[in-house]
Amino acid sequence: MKIDNNTVVSLHYTLKNKDGEVMDTSSGGEPLVYLHGVGGLIPGLEDELKGKEKGNAFQAVIPPEKAYGAYNDEFIRKVAKSNFQGDEELHEGMQVQMQSQSGERAMAVISKVEEEDVLLDLNHPLAGHTLFFDVEVVDIREASQSEIEHGHAHGPGGHDH
Ligand code: ZN
Repeated sequence: MKIDNNTVVSLHYTLKNKDGEVMDTSSGGEPLVYLHGVGGLIPGLEDELKGKEKGNAFQAVIPPEKAYGAYNDEFIRKVAKSNFQGDEELHEGMQVQMQSQSGERAMAVISKVEEEDVLLDLNHPLAGHTLFFDVEVVDIREASQSEIEHGHAHGPGGHDH
């Protein structure tokens, strides 16, 4: 059986940056489980996984445009310090949760602290990065009808509802 749309895939992965530093890994824990073909993983990784079989291990280099997108300077926002509550000192690199007027929440990183304001970077932390994956396909099975309808995997490692 090969990975294709409407299959549920279990895999182990290690994500490294261009310097070879490990940024994320499933190694030592439960495998990642996803329904293939519905955008559950970044597009570049799903492209690489298509057609692979159980037991296949491979490396994949994913450019930003097939991962988390290019870094966008327009996603830098200037916000007055007075908008932040709490007594924690605002500092560069600090993660803060933003809420838009429509109620949407997003994580942002403080990229600069000025006299009256801070600059917030709303880019995904991996935007602009080429990603280096080591992947091992642990299992492949047919998706059930309800998984296809819901657009995600059920059972161990998947949605539980
Ligand atoms: Zn479901």
